Amino acid sequence: MNKTKRRKIKVILQQGKEQDEVVIMGWVRTRRDSKGGFSFLEINDGSCLKNLQVITDHSIDSFDSISGKLHTGSCVSITGKLVQSPGKGQSVELQAKSIEVYGEADPNQYPLQKKHHSFEFLREISHLRPRTNTFGAVMRVRNRLSYSIHKFFQDRGFVYLHTPIITTNDCEGAGEMFQVTTLKPDSIPMVDGKVDYTQDFFGEKTCLTVSGQLEGEVYALALSEIYTFGPTFRAENSNTSRHLSEFWMVEPEMAFYDLEDDMNLAEDFLHYLFKDVLEHCSEDLEFFNKQIDKTILERHQNITEKEFERITYTDAIHILEKSNKKFTYSVEWGCNLQSEHERYLSEEVFKKAVVIYDYPEEIKPFYMKVNDNGKTVRAMDVLLPKLGEIIGGSQREDDYGSLLKRMQSKNLESEDYDWYLDLRRFGSAPHSGFGLGFERLVQFVTGVENIRDVIPFPRTPKHARF
Ligand code: ATP
Ligand code: MN
Repeated sequence: MNKTKRRKIKVILQQGKEQDEVVIMGWVRTRRDSKGGFSFLEINDGSCLKNLQVITDHSIDSFDSISGKLHTGSCVSITGKLVQSPGKGQSVELQAKSIEVYGEADPNQYPLQKKHHSFEFLREISHLRPRTNTFGAVMRVRNRLSYSIHKFFQDRGFVYLHTPIITTNDCEGAGEMFQVTTLKPDSIPMVDGKVDYTQDFFGEKTCLTVSGQLEGEVYALALSEIYTFGPTFRAENSNTSRHLSEFWMVEPEMAFYDLEDDMNLAEDFLHYLFKDVLEHCSEDLEFFNKQIDKTILERHQNITEKEFERITYTDAIHILEKSNKKFTYSVEWGCNLQSEHERYLSEEVFKKAVVIYDYPEEIKPFYMKVNDNGKTVRAMDVLLPKLGEIIGGSQREDDYGSLLKRMQSKNLESEDYDWYLDLRRFGSAPHSGFGLGFERLVQFVTGVENIRDVIPFPRTPKHARF
């Protein structure tokens, strides 16, 4: 292996320089033989969307012995000379001097032969789909977005916090958690008809986290501004194109922020991410705009250039009631907004990102700060056209008495939350935060319709295997 001269295809194409000898390593996307004793290979190494074109003369060393192994899907190392390309759409091409085949791919068996495969088909071969243009592009965009999320917060002095994955807290209070246990299903210890968790690994019932927020609050009330970015798990049985059982969430939590500061941060954050990805993933985004959804670039501009609309839940209900639009779920004050309502508001009424705030107290979790009217809480959701909810956040209840009252009305055991109440007992501070669903962000940016296609290995109900 001639590693010293190896160059990534992205760098070769960016530089566009002629060079006497370079080595590329990657996978053959296509092979075309021409009559005059030449073959054209398109090689991709995942560093960028574009392939590098390689021309090989059939008279080079050992070509005859490897020719039968050079197929779509084969992995190769090619040494050659970079020359200006006469073809359009590429700066340089490689004239092969020698080719080594690392691994062949039998054309009668390798599944990725066509130029276009359906997302459904590719989901069946999630170990091979990264070798398609679409999945390469999705993962590069996902990578850039992860990087710029860290950059956004780090530049503003937020501390990256690792919250636990195994927890005894049910943050959303919805009970949609995966249990973590080492008890054997066929011999569960019981006492008085109930599972005896004292014999379980942790000595009590434990689950996978649905959110790092509560732990995030602990650290925000010491370090001022923190964020988490990690996996979260929800055992909700919703087989939609926007829900996964395992997804990644970004959760900033800030002391001394009220709801308005929280909304400002969420808006700045999304503006920043869209601008950054447009700048650094333009080739991949143009590909999506051509192949997946011809409106995405326009939609990104619409998000980055316009201020978000901010309306109260009560005003949103008025608009929906007056709309004369037939919804599957009817609307009245106090109802949960469904994604059809959210999309109507952002796509048809405002035609841009919308932030809805001050939701009815009954439909929101215990930790949100109650407004003076006693009826609504300081919650906010950010809705995007075509997607619906991408961010959910709130100002947290910082008053001990109000929090305790709210926990009791929602039948939460205050002993379980002693530590959480302590944060209001000792040095309480106004504070706020939000959660952004990372895969929904990738969906919006790429225009990919199904959330299963923006994460390497999706976990959904009845599906945890490759
Ligand atoms: P939804 O109403 O869309 O199910 P939610 O209100 O239950 O979402 P939150 O608890 O507010 O979600 O979580 C914060 C963010 O995490 C959401 O705004 C969304 O972007 C994302 N999210 C929530 N559940 C899922 C899921 N099952 N799969 C992927 N992302 C999710
Ligand atoms: Mn929400």
